Amino acid sequence: MIIGAGVAGLGTALGLARSGRRVTVIDRDPAPPALDPETAFSSWDRSGVPQARQPHAFWARSRNLLLQRAPEVLERLRDIGVGEWNILNMAPPAMRVPEDQQFTSLLVRRLPFEVTLRNVVEEEPLVEIRPETLVDRIEFATDRDGAPPRATAVRLRGGEVLPADLVIDATGRRSRLVSSLAGHGVIVPTQMEDCNVVYYGRYYRQLDDSDLDPEELTRRGGGDLGYFQYGTFQGDNRTLAIFLNPPPWDTPFKALRHKHVFEAVARAIPAAAPWVDPQHTSPITDVQPMAGQQNVLRRFVVDGRPVALGVLPVGDSLCTTNPQNGWGASLALTYAFAAVDAVAQHDGDLEGIAMAYHDAVWPDAEAYFRASAAIDRIRTHRWRGEEIPAEDQEEAERQRLLQEGLNPAMRRDMHVLRAMMRRTNLIDPPDAIWSDEQAVRIGRETMEWRAAKQRPFAVGPPRDEMLGIIKEAGATIDETAPAS
Ligand SMILES: Cc1cc2nc3c(=O)[nH]c(=O)nc-3n(C[C@H](O)[C@H](O)[C@H](O)COP(=O)(O)OP(=O)(O)OC[C@H]3O[C@@H](n4cnc5c(N)ncnc54)[C@H](O)[C@@H]3O)c2cc1C
Repeated sequence: MIIGAGVAGLGTALGLARSGRRVTVIDRDPAPPALDPETAFSSWDRSGVPQARQPHAFWARSRNLLLQRAPEVLERLRDIGVGEWNILNMAPPAMRVPEDQQFTSLLVRRLPFEVTLRNVVEEEPLVEIRPETLVDRIEFATDRDGAPPRATAVRLRGGEVLPADLVIDATGRRSRLVSSLAGHGVIVPTQMEDCNVVYYGRYYRQLDDSDLDPEELTRRGGGDLGYFQYGTFQGDNRTLAIFLNPPPWDTPFKALRHKHVFEAVARAIPAAAPWVDPQHTSPITDVQPMAGQQNVLRRFVVDGRPVALGVLPVGDSLCTTNPQNGWGASLALTYAFAAVDAVAQHDGDLEGIAMAYHDAVWPDAEAYFRASAAIDRIRTHRWRGEEIPAEDQEEAERQRLLQEGLNPAMRRDMHVLRAMMRRTNLIDPPDAIWSDEQAVRIGRETMEWRAAKQRPFAVGPPRDEMLGIIKEAGATIDETAPAS
C-alpha cells in the first residue's frame, strides 16, 4: 500500500509492481485530466503538492536512475518534447570522455514529468491507483512486549480500512508518520533547520520568433546578490522559469508576489532580464509564492533497530532539503528504488526490509540533509550580517570557495567542471569535492587571483538600488487587492 502518488510513490509503485508485487497507490488529488504536458501543467489539480508548479530541476541522478530502472519513461518524456542538457557537450569533442554522459539532466516542468511517470505506472497490471482518496492514518498493531509497532492497514477518511503487508509513506514534506508513531509511544529522532528563503517562482514560454539561446539560461543558473538569491531553469516545450528567493524577514521583498514588481526586479538582474522581456517570452503562470521551507531528516532506525515495522518513509517524508538545490526529486527516486530492492532482498521479513532500506538510504539522506542545512545556515549568517560561529567557520570557507573559486574555475578547467558536475547532479555526495585535491587547489588559486584583481562578484544591483526598484514598481499596487 503506497500513500502518495508523487515522485517517490510512483517510483516505488513502478519498481514493486515490476518485481511481482500487487500495489495500491492512494492519493488525495484527482487523476490528471489528460496526458499531454500542457493540460497537466495548466489544469491538473495538485493541491496535495503545493510546489507542483514551482520551478523544478531534474538533475542527472534522476535521469540515470530512470535509464537503469525504467528507460521507457525517458523515451516518453522525449516524445512529449522534453529536452536533455549536458554542459560537457559544450566542450570541444576531443576533450570529452564517454563517462561525461552521466551528467545529462532533464529539462522538464514537474507536472509533465509526473504525468508521464504516472502513465507508465498505470500501465502496470499489478498497480491500482486510487485518486481523490485521503488517508486518515496508518493502523499499527503491537504484537508482543518490546516489539516495535507493526503497520497492518491504512484507514481512509470515511472509515474504510485497507489491510496492507507493507505501507510506503510517500506523503511528502507534510508526512504525519512521525506524529502517528508518537501516538504509539514511539519517538522518531527528527532534525529540522529552516531554509530561510521565501520562494517566488514564475513560468514563461519563449516565443517562436525569439532568438535567445535557452542554453544560456541553464548555463548561468543563478546567483546570490548578497541579500537574496535568484535562479533560472529551462523546462520542456520552450518553457522556462525564474525564481527569486529573499529571506523571510526582509519585508519589502514580500511585494515580489505582485507580477509587475517581480518583473521589475527580474529585469534588474542581467542573467534574468532577457527572459522577462515580452519580445522574447510570455508568462504562463502568475507569480507563485511559497514560504516555510525547512530541511528535515527523520531517523526510523535507532540503536540498530527499526522504530516501526511494515512501514517505510520514502522521498520527502524521510528527508527534505532546500528546494534551491534541486535535490528532492532525485532523492525521492533514489529512496523509491532502494525500498524496492530492500523488499526484493528480504521478502516477508519486515525487520530485514527496514534495516536493508535504512542501510541503503541513511548515509545518502544524512549527507544531503547536512549539506543543505549547512548552506542555509551560512547564508543566513551572511545575509543577517552576523559573525559566523566557530563551529561553522570551516563550512563558511567551503561555501566561499564554491562560489568564488570553484564556480568561476569550472568555466576554464575540465577537471573542476567535472568535479562540480558530479556534485550538482548528485553523482557524488555533496562533500566529496573536498577530497578532490586538484579541484580544491585550482578553486583556491582562482579565488585568490580574483581577489587580487578585485574582480567583483555582483550579479545584480545592490540592495538599496533594488529597494528603489521595488518601491517604484510597487507604487501603483493597491495592497488591499489580491496579489496578481
Ligand atoms: C518550491 C519548491 C521547489 C522545488 N524545486 C525542486 C527542484 O528544482 N528539483 C527537485 O528535484 N526537487 C524540487 N523540489 C522538491 C520536490 O518537489 C520534492 O522533493 C519531491 O516532490 C518529493 O516527492 P515526494 O513524492 O516525496 O512528495 P510529493 O511530491 O510532495 O508527493 C506527496 C504525495 O502524497 C499525497 N498525499 C499527501 N498526504 C496524503 C494523504 N493523507 N492521503 C493521500 N495522499 C496524500 C499528495 O497528494 C502527493 O501526491 C522543490 C520543492 C519546493 C517546495
